[in-house]
Amino acid sequence: MAFGSDRQMYDVDLTCAKCGAHISQLPFQPSGDRPVYCSDCNRAFRKDRPATDRGGRAGGFSQAPRQMYSVNLNCASCGQQISELPFQPTGDKPVYCRDCMQARRNG
Ligand SMILES: [Zn+2]
Ligand SMILES: [Zn+2]
Repeated sequence: MAFGSDRQMYDVDLTCAKCGAHISQLPFQPSGDRPVYCSDCNRAFRKDRPATDRGGRAGGFSQAPRQMYSVNLNCASCGQQISELPFQPTGDKPVYCRDCMQARRNG
């Protein structure tokens, strides 16, 4: 259970993409195609994120009750009528019925 103190660090010569601080070491090898943040900014990011994202998957509970919006639309793929959506349609994106949405996600 002891980890955190003895991690391998990579020597880098980078600038934090957020605050501009110089970064000389990273706990991972930078890939070059992603912004890199200093440890302060990383910590701030994590704090900003709602912890509710995690843990929802454990226990085989995949369909938590969500707020549904009443709509009167047709599926952009199969044309089926849609009366409820788990999100508010913006109008500038196609909307799919549950079946098609699932098929798109899986496929
Ligand atoms: Zn920073
Ligand atoms: Zn459909």
